[in-house]
Parts: sequence; structure tokens; C-alpha cells
Amino acid sequence: MSLLDLTYIALREKMPGLHESHTRTLWRALYRENATDLAGHPDFLPPLKKWFELHSTLQPQPPMVVHETQSSDGHTRKVLLQLADGHRIETVLMGFTGRFTACLSTQVGCAMGCVFCATGQMGFTRHLTPGEIVAQVLHQNRRLRENGQGQLRNLVLMGMGEPLHNYDAVMTALEILSDTRGANIGPTRISISTVGVVPGIIRLAEENRPYNLAVSLHGATQEERAQLVPTAKKWPLDQLMDACRFYTAKTERHIFFEWTLIEDTNDSPEQAEALARLLENMPAHINLIPLNPTEGYAGEPSSNAMRFKSILRAAGFPTTIRQRRGIDVAAGCGQLAIAG
Ligand code: SAH
Ligand code: SF4
Repeated sequence: MSLLDLTYIALREKMPGLHESHTRTLWRALYRENATDLAGHPDFLPPLKKWFELHSTLQPQPPMVVHETQSSDGHTRKVLLQLADGHRIETVLMGFTGRFTACLSTQVGCAMGCVFCATGQMGFTRHLTPGEIVAQVLHQNRRLRENGQGQLRNLVLMGMGEPLHNYDAVMTALEILSDTRGANIGPTRISISTVGVVPGIIRLAEENRPYNLAVSLHGATQEERAQLVPTAKKWPLDQLMDACRFYTAKTERHIFFEWTLIEDTNDSPEQAEALARLLENMPAHINLIPLNPTEGYAGEPSSNAMRFKSILRAAGFPTTIRQRRGIDVAAGCGQLAIAG
């Protein structure tokens, strides 16, 4: 357990008898200033100093940076971090015209096994703790501050792992990161991407979590989807669509649907029309992602993205083709995997 695992309320509960101003000071040091040396912090008054000495085991140990790579266009930075137990995760920073977005990992590996995804190909090792998710943001914010580039304003949970398979840790981390007293990343600027974990989608709706939801579809029939996404066998497409309709009705928000476009696999006009029928009357945005190459999958990126997009647009869906970023440093979608 580290300080980074605690929401503001949980931290406050650990400081009984101390005035709330001390909790605020500590919170600000962690999330506004990104301070690494808390013990020697000049703003810590004696009661807080004493509390901190008594709770020194809570002092967060920043993950070790194994390496950082910058894409040749300079817009993407991939960071390989080593956790306390030696496992490694990746975090990606994307800078589009001065607006920085971090792509966070939520697990070491992934249990869902999507055939085209490098993380899926490596299998599942373990869940990340809230603090390990939060630490990825702190690392990127430190770098941005060193370079005089401001602070992160957007987060996407599209790195390694399936966020809704690690629901509680992810929600705790997002509560910490969106807290206005600290890192203050607005909930509407945070997107959770899921492969379609039905109970997780229902829970998000019931708890009315204020984040954006993206659902990875890749196929518009149960049969076609199950060939790319093995977990479709556990949570079939009709159940997934029911959960999505429940979510949009309950939260009055739209859903982003993601579709990785693979040549001659899921990029035909008929498949675009089937997708439009599947999403009929749904408040939906569609993101098309050209396949990024991975070693364990022979498919090619689709050359028919524009055709696919026009059909969906004509059917009335706002549709975008995701810009390909960071391909040369293997930081594109689905390429986050670690050898060894
Ligand atoms: N597990 C979650 C979030 C991480 S994957 C999910 O699956 O949604 C983030 C996105 O990258 C998903 O839409 C996923 O389908 C896509 N993706 C995975 N591998 C890819 C690849 N090789 N090329 C393009 N997109 C890929
Ligand atoms: Fe896991 Fe998402 Fe990759 Fe599928 S695409 S294996 S759910 S990380």
C-alpha cells in the first residue's frame, strides 16, 4: 500500500486528529507539485512532518524507468516502467497540437486474448494497483513539467490490459486523478475502453460513473466477432448490446465504438452496413483504427477505411479514422507488449 492507492477521503481517514489543511498540503504536494521528496517538503508543518515520519512506509516509490522512446515525428513518447516486483508496463504520451493525452495500462498483460493484440498475445500476469495506475500519470506529468509543456489534460485507458477486468482499482485511480484538489483531470476527458465486459458496463451505468466509455466491437455478428475477440463467447454480442443500451439510457451519454480494420476480414461494405444496423438508434460515435502490425497475427491493415467510413457516415454515425501515431516506436494501439 502506498499513498498513491488512497483517495482523498481514504487519506483523510488515515489522519485522525490532524487538521484538514495538512491533508490538503500533502495532496497538493503529491498531485499538483509531483514532489518526490515528501520527507523534506518545505510546506510540511510539524504535525504533518511527524505524521509522515510515522507513516514513512506509505511513501510512494516511483516506478523505475527502463527506457523511453520518442517517435520520429516527436508526437509520441513510450515509457517502459518497472514495478516494485519487477514486472514491466508501458505508458504512452501523445501530444496532438499542444493537447497531451496519456494512454495508461491497467494490467500486466491481458486475459482477453484478442487475436490481433500484442498484449493479448502475451497473456495475463496480474492486475495493477490503483497506485501503479496513478504513478503512470505522475511520471508523464513530471516529464511535461521538466519540458515546460504544462500538464496532462486527457487520459485514455487503452494501454495494456482490460480496465473493466480490474474494475475497483481502476475506479479508485480515476477518482484520485480527477480530484479537483490535485491532478484535476476532468472526468469528461477520461475514456475507458473495454473489450465488452458486460457486468462492468452495467456497473458503470448503475454507479453513474462520469467517464467516457468506448467499446471495442470489431465484428457486427456474434460469429465474426468471436473469431477476433475470444471473450465474445463469454459475453455474446446480444448481451453486450443490451448492456450498451442500458448504459446509454441510464447515463444519457453516447458510447464510442471501436473497430480495428483488417484487410479482407472486417472491412467490406456489407460489414459496414451490418454495423450500422447493429447500432441503429444508439447514440454512438465510431472510431475506426487501422490495424497495427503485431508479430503474432498475420492480418494486414485495411486499405478500405474511407469506404467503410462513408457507409457509416451515410447511415448517420459520426465516424473518425484514428490517426496512426507512434507506429515506429511500436506504441500504436495493440503494440504494447514487453519481451522477456
Ligand atoms: N482492453 C481494452 C483497452 C485496451 S486495447 C480494449 O480492448 O478495448 C485499446 C484498443 O486498441 C482496442 O480498441 C483494441 O481493440 C485496439 N487494438 C488492439 N490491438 C490492435 C492492433 N494490433 N491494431 C489496432 N488496434 C488494436
Ligand atoms: Fe486485452 Fe484489449 Fe488487447 Fe483485447 S485488445 S487482448 S481486451 S488489451
